[in-house]
Amino acid sequence: MIYEAVAMGAFAAKRRNFHQCSGVFTPEGFFIASETVGLKAGSAHPQLSAHRAKFHSTLVAECCRLDKVILNSRFVQLERHEDHVVLHFENSTTKKSMAPVTCHFVVGADGLKSRLRGALLGDGDPRYTGRMIYRGLCEVDDIHADGCTVSLCGDATGNFICYPISERLRQEKRFLCNWGLCVLREHPGGEENWTSEAGLEARRSELQNFGGNSFAGLTPLQMAERTEKIIGWSLFDRDPLKSFDFGNVTLLGDAAHPLLPYGSQGATQAPWSKWSKCHVNHAVKQATAHCFGPLALRCRQCRLSLLGNKEQVH
Ligand SMILES: Cc1cc2nc3c(=O)[nH]c(=O)nc-3n(C[C@H](O)[C@H](O)[C@H](O)COP(=O)(O)OP(=O)(O)OC[C@H]3O[C@@H](n4cnc5c(N)ncnc54)[C@H](O)[C@@H]3O)c2cc1C
Repeated sequence: MIYEAVAMGAFAAKRRNFHQCSGVFTPEGFFIASETVGLKAGSAHPQLSAHRAKFHSTLVAECCRLDKVILNSRFVQLERHEDHVVLHFENSTTKKSMAPVTCHFVVGADGLKSRLRGALLGDGDPRYTGRMIYRGLCEVDDIHADGCTVSLCGDATGNFICYPISERLRQEKRFLCNWGLCVLREHPGGEENWTSEAGLEARRSELQNFGGNSFAGLTPLQMAERTEKIIGWSLFDRDPLKSFDFGNVTLLGDAAHPLLPYGSQGATQAPWSKWSKCHVNHAVKQATAHCFGPLALRCRQCRLSLLGNKEQVH
């Protein structure tokens, strides 16, 4: 139901700016290649881009309809037994322990730094990739290409990507542009978070390197100059797992298969693996002997996506 709502239902119906094409250029602006994507490439489903907050709102609205969402609870530890699992949580605000929860099956979807994964595997912190990405949103008074194109320029040392994310503005022949600048960086140290603001000045010369390119009449630097808030993320990674099968516990999304932003695949992979795990959940009730078929298949597919995703920068 949630998958349908997000992939093809209410969310997609309001958003018709499905991507049709992607184009790749050198830093100097020389065209390298283009490919059709989504429906235009014959896929059964469209490729679309959306503002992360709107995507989240759609998920939250669908989850709230289920009336079974408990927020402000932080997973701390689990106890695994043959036929059940006991989970321990604390209140995220007060840090006070909450009553333990007993269940038959656990799906851990607590992201890149998953505590549940740590409890299962003890495989430590994710690995720094040596790259950072700076991202921003700017509005442009023109449309870029057909208004449905993802454009990328750069080389092995850095690249700039931009694509439209507002159907309303596209209808008005304007371009709400989501852009990203990915560059090589020493480990920045300190605690990583998702809201670290980054100034424009320190990125100016790197953005100038892509000055041969123009999207909706603006160079990458000019787009950044129009951007109110630039956020910087250090990029971390983990190696693909051989299996997501931990008996009555499994992992989902970045906890299972963290994705670097190069392929814009994270939001796709998480619901997709959720879909296969729904089948697993159903199967658990039916007969445990058959339940890990879809999970094993999903794990293999994720592994291929992950490796492809990593190769995109090399
Ligand atoms: C800089 C950057 C840009 C990206 N850009 C894109 C993009 O353009 N398109 C795309 O598709 N993907 C993108 N991705 C990847 C995408 O963000 C992830 O793949 C996706 O968010 C994974 O979803 P998730 O639900 O598995 O994990 P998350 O989105 O990380 O969610 C995990 C949740 O678990 C919660 N949590 C953590 N610890 C605990 C705990 N102990 N107890 C309870 N809850 C906990 C967190 O608060 C969070 O709500 C990007 C990633 C990065 C780093």
